Formats: sequence, structure tokens, C-alpha cells
Amino acid sequence: MYTVLIVEDNEKNLKVIRDLMRLQGYRTLEARDGQAGLAMAQVQHPDLILMDVQLPLIDGYEVTRRLKTEEHTRHIPVIAVTSFAMKGEEERARTAGCDAYISKPINIHTLIDTVRQYLPGGESSHDQGTGVTGG
Ligand code: MN
Repeated sequence: MYTVLIVEDNEKNLKVIRDLMRLQGYRTLEARDGQAGLAMAQVQHPDLILMDVQLPLIDGYEVTRRLKTEEHTRHIPVIAVTSFAMKGEEERARTAGCDAYISKPINIHTLIDTVRQYLPGGESSHDQGTGVTGG
């Protein structure tokens, strides 16, 4: 069973994502700020992280940067969940080391497909064009 860590400070978003992940058969872990998310990733080694960008204490990009500089966590795929489909957001996500990003409001099919793509054994090597590549 795959374990997905959801780092999200908005309870409503957290519930939506949690329910979707569980429906897919994944085990879920949760953190509500960047510091807790960083610690949980380091201890639990989830198979994938869904990372809200705007978080208390440490923002999602900084958490990703730290995870990607550590040998024990750099392999974990991080999908950034950005608040706006803003120009430049993809570049920011890539620079931080995120493997992919999706925009709010969350499209259910995009979320499920992107998670599936980046889980171990997924299809990320085929590059479906939805993710951030080259990083
Ligand atoms: Mn947030």
C-alpha cells in the first residue's frame, strides 16, 4: 500500500484530498504546517508528498528544497499544490525541486492522475506533459 503525505493547512482542502487519496486505496499522513510536514517526511518516508505551497512556519517550496537536499528524502516525489495558476509558478516549483505541480481549485482527475504518475511504478518516465520535468 502506498503512503501519501498531505501537507495542507486548510482543513477543507485537506479533507477533500484525504478522501480522494483514501478512495484510491492509499494510506494518508497529514501535516498542517511546513515544519510538521518536513519532520513527518523525514521520519515516515512516504511514497509521495502533496505539498501545499502557502503554509505556516515554513512554506511548501522551502520544505521541498530541504527534502531535496537530504539524501534520505530526496527521492520522494513532491507534487506542489499552488494557490493560483500564476505565470512563473511552474518555474518556482521546478527551482524548489518539486517533481510536478497542480493548481487550485483542485481538479479531481488531474490530482489522481498526477499522483498515480509519480508513485513508484508510475508512468513519470513517459512524461505525460502534466508535470515539471528536468529537475
Ligand atoms: Mn495553504
